[in-house]
Parts: sequence; C-alpha cells; structure tokens
Amino acid sequence: MTETKAPVETTTITVRNPADGTVVGEVPIDAAETVAARSRELRLYQPEWEAMGAAGRKPWLMKFQDWVLDNAEHIGDVLQSETGKPRAEASMEPPLTADLLNYWARNAETFLADRHPKPHSPLMKTKRLTTVYRPYPIVGLIIPWNFPFLNAALDGIPALAAGAALLLKPSEVTPLSAVEFARGWTEIGAPPVLGLVNGYAQTGAAVIANSDYVHFTGSTATGRKVAVACAERLIPYSLELGGKDPAVVLADADLERAANGIVWGGMFNSGQACISVERVYVEAPVYDEFVAKLTDKVSRLRQGHDDDRYQFDVGAMATAAQRDIVRRHVDEAVAAGARVTTGGQPTGVGTFFQPTVLADVDQSMSCMTEETFGPTLPVVNVADENEAIRLANQSTYGLSATVWTRDNARGERVARQLEAGAVNINDAMANGFSFALPMPGWKHSGVGSRNGGADGMLKYCRPQAITAPRVPTQSREMLWYPYSRRKFRVALSIVRAAASHGLRRFGIARRGGRK
Ligand code: NAD
Repeated sequence: MTETKAPVETTTITVRNPADGTVVGEVPIDAAETVAARSRELRLYQPEWEAMGAAGRKPWLMKFQDWVLDNAEHIGDVLQSETGKPRAEASMEPPLTADLLNYWARNAETFLADRHPKPHSPLMKTKRLTTVYRPYPIVGLIIPWNFPFLNAALDGIPALAAGAALLLKPSEVTPLSAVEFARGWTEIGAPPVLGLVNGYAQTGAAVIANSDYVHFTGSTATGRKVAVACAERLIPYSLELGGKDPAVVLADADLERAANGIVWGGMFNSGQACISVERVYVEAPVYDEFVAKLTDKVSRLRQGHDDDRYQFDVGAMATAAQRDIVRRHVDEAVAAGARVTTGGQPTGVGTFFQPTVLADVDQSMSCMTEETFGPTLPVVNVADENEAIRLANQSTYGLSATVWTRDNARGERVARQLEAGAVNINDAMANGFSFALPMPGWKHSGVGSRNGGADGMLKYCRPQAITAPRVPTQSREMLWYPYSRRKFRVALSIVRAAASHGLRRFGIARRGGRK
C-alpha cells in the first residue's frame, strides 16, 4: 500500500513525474457531496443505457475503441508523464484497452442473453423458466496507479457493456490517465454513464457509499477496508489485491527461456504489476547456472527516464514510498545473508531502483514474505520439485505463479498443486492477457474474479428469475400446489417417479430394495 495521505486543506492534487519530480498536471479533489451528486446524475441516465441492450451499447463501445486507437500516442504521453514508465510500457495500455473493448463489445449480447434452465421436476414443466441478467445501476471502480489507463478499462468496460453506469476513482498518484479515459467517452458523444471522481481515501469511501457494486483493485490492506465498508452497506464487491508470485524453475527447464521469461515477469513495469514474478525457486542442479544467466540478463537492462524514443527497458518506481519498500527488502535480505549479484541500490534523480537479483535467499526474509512490488528477483536454491511446491505455497498470497520445464505434462502436474489463481507454464503473465480466462486472486490476493468470459460481465449483474405459465392457467384455482388429498397423492407419485428415475440413472438402489 502506498502511503499517500491528503495534505491538510488542499482542494487539488498536484501530479508529478516520478522520473524527475516535475509537475505534470493538477486535478481537483472531489468531496463526498460531489461524489454523491455525480452518482445521482449517473442514476438518471443508467436506465436508458440498460434499456438499449447489449446490441444498442455495442456501437458506443466500438466508437470508444476507435477513439482510444486514434489517441494512443497522446494517451501514452500522459500516462508516461505521471508514472515514469519507459515508452514501450506506456504504449502498451491503449492497444490493450482497444482489445478489451473489442472483446466485451462483441461478446456482450451472447454473455448477457437470457437463459432458460430446464425445470428440475415434471411438476415445474408447466412453467417457462427464465433467468435475466440486469446490471447493478452504479458500479463503483477504485483503481491503483500501476496501469492507470488499462485498469480503468479492465474492470470498467465489462461493467459498461453490461449496462451499468460507472463511477470511476483513479489513484491520487496517477489521475491524469483516467481524465483522458473519461474525456474520450465524452468526446465520442456517448450517453453520460461514466462519471469520474478524484481524490484520496475519503473520495474512495464516498464511491463505496454511492455505488450498488464495487470493484476494487489495490493493496490487500485497503481491500480489507473496502470489504468492510461494502459489508456495512450490504452491497456486493470484488477485490483484486496484492501478490507474491512464485516462479518454479525445474532442472529440466530450457534455462535460457526461463531466464528471459522471469526477467520479463519480474522487471516489467519496474516490478509493479500484481502478477509480477516476486520469488524464484530453482532446483539445485541448475541453481548456479540459472543465477548466472539471470544476473547477466538483468544487468544488461537499460534503465532511465525515457522520452518517446523507446530507449529504455525499465523506468522509475511510481512513488518514493514504493522505492523505499524495495530498498528495505533488499537491505534486510543482505543483512540476513543474501547476496546481491546485480543492482541493489536506488539510482538517478527520480524514484529509480536498479534492477536487482538476490541470490542465497531464504524463505524467512521480508523480500520473500511481503509484497515488494519492485524490480527485484530473489532466488532460492531448492532440493527438488516437492520443496519448490511447498515453499511456493507458503504465502498469504495466491495470485499467480509460473512453472518452467521442458515437460508440459509435468508443468501441469505442478500447476495443479500450486495455490494460486493462475499458473503460466513456460511463460509469465500470459493469463493477464487472456480475457477468456478468469483472473481470481486466491487467499489474500482477492475476492471474486475478473475476466473469464461471461462470468466477467455477469458479476456486474443481478440475476432475475422470471416464471411464466406454459399451459393455460385455471382462473378458479388460487394455489398452484395440491390442495386436495387426491391431488396431493398425484403430486407425490410424480415426485417419487422422478426421484426413482434419477436414482436409477446413477445406478443407486433405494432403501427398501427398489432400484
Ligand atoms: P492502494 O490500496 O493504496 O490504493 C488503491 C486505491 O484505493 C486508490 O485509488 C486509493 O485512493 C484508494 N483508497 C485508499 N484508501 C481507501 C479507502 N479507505 N476506501 C476506498 N478507497 C481507498 O493501492 P496502490 O498502492 O495504489 O496499488 C498497489 C497495489 O495494488 C499492490 O498491492 C498491487 O499488488 C495491487 N494491484 C493488484 C492488482 C490485481 O489485479 N490483483 C492489479 C494492480 C495492482
């Protein structure tokens, strides 16, 4: 969790580039009353948005997709300026957002379609059963600073596509990208169902107070507070929280591939991705060779304050507080006997921390027990596969994991023993780009899930059950259940027949010998 408290009596947030400290923008702070007013406004327009249906909303989402692609360079400039990312990383977010828009817009009609479950019993065959998916009117979306444009899209687009109105609160560290997101929605002339509010924790609390469903992405500590606030209001929520993702490198792995993948998984976004590789367990026979490869690759990464020329691989940390956590984890590991094989220090004028490899690490060090969220790769020597699995599972987090082996069947076998919401074999972070797969955080890494086909959209909906008669109704009967002994007996025999049919189908004998 980044400690960013609201300075006393300020009404604006000044945004700085963490790579050099320059001021790059300012946004007003929205007080609780403003958030409530924005929510009331959204409630006025949401019913019409819902009534359009998925087919009616699709053209707006596709138009927004065009806007994002047309403005990709500018969006990249803005998000690079407030995050200190290298250009290559900043420029990923607009195309990924366009991909998300495409996915949800094109599939929404299918995902939201009414369902007609088969009646469970012959007695219910007189009814047509329908499940309808109606959106929560206001979805509150509270997001962190690590992917300030993409995070709005990742969880906001399926909500909009489901017919909800979106009340979006970006991180106080990176509000400018979300301003662009909201500007795009307005510029295409879409119905005013996207409301943006800015501020610190109090603004986030006001979002919860004025929403019907909350999706939160951020730290586990804040997620717990969000869960309590939602429980107080009896509203549903989903949480995507922190991680401490392990990589398991088995002795039969293609070590070149494993080292490349783990460098990407650990150093992408300066290690500030929820599904970053944060711990590496390597089988003893290849430990030294692997550490040497990893050290060589990490030491060759280019780090610096990028412009639009794609010069650097690793940028700054988003905040000084985040850099200080990384420094503490490295210092504590070294004090406890770990060896820095490359990096290990803050560097540059901004909030840079050198890409770092720590060898001879043990499981008790803070770099192994706490989320680091920085460009460090601590590597542990393990005796065998079983020890790797045991140590990988020894964490309060369970977001994702990676397994590196030439034997895919072995990789799958290991994956099924790991306590994590996703496991990538011979790759890192691949699940994050697979929208058809769920992205659930196990243990303290989350509650609920995002993406995952229809589930990722239906979570923003309230299922509604509708029954309608399939046979002519009898106007003289008040009750549909048997109200005479004769009818009761008939009903009982139907239920008995259905039950015995069901039991027979499974080859189970009923008590009393009947099959
Ligand atoms: P954070 O928890 O400090 O803040 C996240 C958001 O919550 C911000 O918008 C903040 O203003 C708001 N907030 C703070 N206090 C609040 C309160 N009491 N009520 C309502 N809202 C409140 O997280 P961060 O430092 O911005 O982000 C880093 C964390 O996010 C890391 O732990 C990382 O693992 C996690 N993360 C998780 C995922 C995922 O998908 N699992 C993705 C990205 C980041």
